[in-house]
Amino acid sequence: MSDTVIQARRQCDNRTARALLLCAWLVLTAAPRVCAAEPLVAVVGGTVIDVATGQEIPNAVVLIDGERIKAVGPAARVAVPHGSTIVHAEGKWLLPGLMDMHVHLGLVLPGAEGAELAHESDGALALRMAKNATASLRAGTTTVRLTGEDKHVEFAVKQSIDRGDLLGPRIFSAGEPLIPTGGHGAEYLASGVDGPVEVTKFTRRQIQAGATWIKLMISKGLADTKGDIAAADMSMAEMQAAVDVAHSHGVKVTAHTGSPTATLAALHAGVDCFEHGYYLDEQVFREIKKYDRWYVPTIVVSQAGALEFFKKIGSPPWYLERAKSVGQAHWKALQTAIAVGVNIAMGTDQYPFEPNEGTVAAVRETELYVDAGMTPLQALQAAMRNPARLLGAEKDLGGLEVGKYADLVAVSADPRRDIHALRTIGLVMKGGLVIRNDWAQ
Ligand SMILES: [Zn+2]
Repeated sequence: MSDTVIQARRQCDNRTARALLLCAWLVLTAAPRVCAAEPLVAVVGGTVIDVATGQEIPNAVVLIDGERIKAVGPAARVAVPHGSTIVHAEGKWLLPGLMDMHVHLGLVLPGAEGAELAHESDGALALRMAKNATASLRAGTTTVRLTGEDKHVEFAVKQSIDRGDLLGPRIFSAGEPLIPTGGHGAEYLASGVDGPVEVTKFTRRQIQAGATWIKLMISKGLADTKGDIAAADMSMAEMQAAVDVAHSHGVKVTAHTGSPTATLAALHAGVDCFEHGYYLDEQVFREIKKYDRWYVPTIVVSQAGALEFFKKIGSPPWYLERAKSVGQAHWKALQTAIAVGVNIAMGTDQYPFEPNEGTVAAVRETELYVDAGMTPLQALQAAMRNPARLLGAEKDLGGLEVGKYADLVAVSADPRRDIHALRTIGLVMKGGLVIRNDWAQ
């Protein structure tokens, strides 16, 4: 029996003893009837997959105390304490929840829907974000990194989730994106942050509001009507100023980029992570690897499956054309990044639950990594484990391990054999709470 299991049992015995003593005292003193400690939750009968190694624990027990995992092991070794709430997972595979590292809960894109949202009030935006947060979690995404929201409304949504008032994923946010004059998104969002002084002030404002990331628009993107995606939009001094302020607060910096030139400069300025990378080549990915930085592909936005979404929101023809023209280069960039072996964390740049080729965007993104050269296990790591390292949250997230948050999903086939098994997510738990269980009796 492992130390962890012995420790878990000992704590359990102590806990039971304490609960009994408390009950006795309450009876003697005729105090209110609340006497039982909160019951543990036990997920039983499933096969736990360790996404770090690809190893499995068949017929496992995942014992959850409050929000965190207290013990994990085969049923023969991990006892389920009397009175535990049982969640059945027989015949299922258990994995950590999906972690989508590029999300905008208040996404607004060019087109009919975007035009309708042009004068959305802050209250309406908050409610729309809340709805999207809940839908993301129900689809199996238990953590998101928000890479650019508007007016800091997402911090209210995050607080509401953290308080338990609203069901939603764990949120890490970059606040508002830093857009230089004429930069990516300038047609829709506040922009015109120019020169190191303004950049410094803007970065400080995001951190003051609660940002744990800073997002820089260092090149143009799909949604701009003008400008070459491969051009560089921020100066070295500006990027350096953002990185200096952010890093001195323990905050990381990520960059929207399609441009090799802008990416190389940003890399040397100390930027930690790169989004999309539409036109990045082998030389750039080798540098990213050399400096141990990160790449978040968002490949779904430029591939065939995104078309149904773009049509739904009434995207104009020029936008569809632009997405299509970037698609091939983007795919090659992803293949190159995988071949070079850079750190990759899954990110969609769509709502994680957005329908996409018969599944949802976060699952489709992960499947596409396999099509582009990853093994299924590497893709599971990109979607469920690497993001914890990117966020600096390895102690809390990224695996079904003792001490981490009980954020998990269950699927009805083995995703190590076929990544499409992720399409069968039927159980979602966050912090030990069952959010969705399609198989419950
Ligand atoms: Zn984005």
